[in-house]
Amino acid sequence: MNTVFARYPLHYLICQIRNIALNEISPSGTATVLDGVMVSQVVLSAVREATDAHVAAGGKRPGLAVVLVGSDPASRIYVQAKRRDGEKAGILTRDFDLPETTSQEELLALIDELNRDDDIHGILVQLPLPPQIDEIAVTNSIKSSKDADGFHAFNVGRLALRQHGLRPCTPRGIMTLLHYYGIDAKGHHCVIVGASNIVGRPMGLEMLIQGATVTTCHRFTKDLEKFVRQAEVLIVAVGNPGIVDADWIAEGSVVIDVGINRLESGKLVGDVDFEKASRKAAWITPVPGGVGPMTRATLMQNTAEAAGIVIIEPCQFLG
Ligand code: NAP
Repeated sequence: MNTVFARYPLHYLICQIRNIALNEISPSGTATVLDGVMVSQVVLSAVREATDAHVAAGGKRPGLAVVLVGSDPASRIYVQAKRRDGEKAGILTRDFDLPETTSQEELLALIDELNRDDDIHGILVQLPLPPQIDEIAVTNSIKSSKDADGFHAFNVGRLALRQHGLRPCTPRGIMTLLHYYGIDAKGHHCVIVGASNIVGRPMGLEMLIQGATVTTCHRFTKDLEKFVRQAEVLIVAVGNPGIVDADWIAEGSVVIDVGINRLESGKLVGDVDFEKASRKAAWITPVPGGVGPMTRATLMQNTAEAAGIVIIEPCQFLG
């Protein structure tokens, strides 16, 4: 059994035994919610257990450097939540809050220092960065073995080649969530809307590894509706609440909504209309409470792995 879930066998086993068939339509016409809050707590507890055992055996407690440049309110909220998750996972987080005016050289000098610090096993630089700083240069300056976010070209390349490495957190977290509920995309058509470096592209690689047939849609895709209608697993990561019409969603499909959008009313919504989509899909993630917590829990899982603490999980096809 996957060790991440071994401590919580009951619900996990029920999901696995059920071995759900995609396109299975809920009798009530209301989708089952994929609970990212609950599953993320399972992952964090498993990481905590593994890190505590590592420390008890004489190992160092994993350390995660959290670097925030500037005072973007959304970034501040994300970073605070990541720090809280670090505590739950038994990972020491060290904060580096830098002013908005930080130069690229100053940031690269800090990363160089953290790369050489033996107490730091993972480095997270919160994106987006201010315009004077080149995000790609920063991402690739992090030592690939400390790349907790999994954004470094080396790690994304490893994923593309089906080799073990630190995998981008959001796609990996989605695979963990699907696995928890016994949803196997193998042989099914997965349509991903959005092709960014941190979500859409690595998501396609994860799904290919899983054995899905993958279509990736982006801003130049003609007739998005045609592809969405074909999706047995639909993953939407654009940042536009109107991008997918819920009427296009196939009956009995799995809908993973990655988007986070704040409406003028202050309400947080995804890229998919949850209420309407729930009447067509069999399984759906809410926003908030779906992909977001899984992303953060996976960050802790990656940090533990960067510290040499191995937590086996479902990618049996990675070499
Ligand atoms: P991004 O870098 O802005 O990428 C958006 C993607 O959407 C791009 O690939 C873009 O295509 C594509 N796109 C834009 N217009 C489109 C259209 N009309 N049809 C199809 N595709 C279109 O954003 P991101 O970082 O991937 O994030 C996407 C959303 O997910 C945001 O709301 C973000 O806040 C959220 N997010 C959530 C989590 C989480 O943990 N829940 C994590 C990361 C991101 P091109 O490549 O052609 O430009």
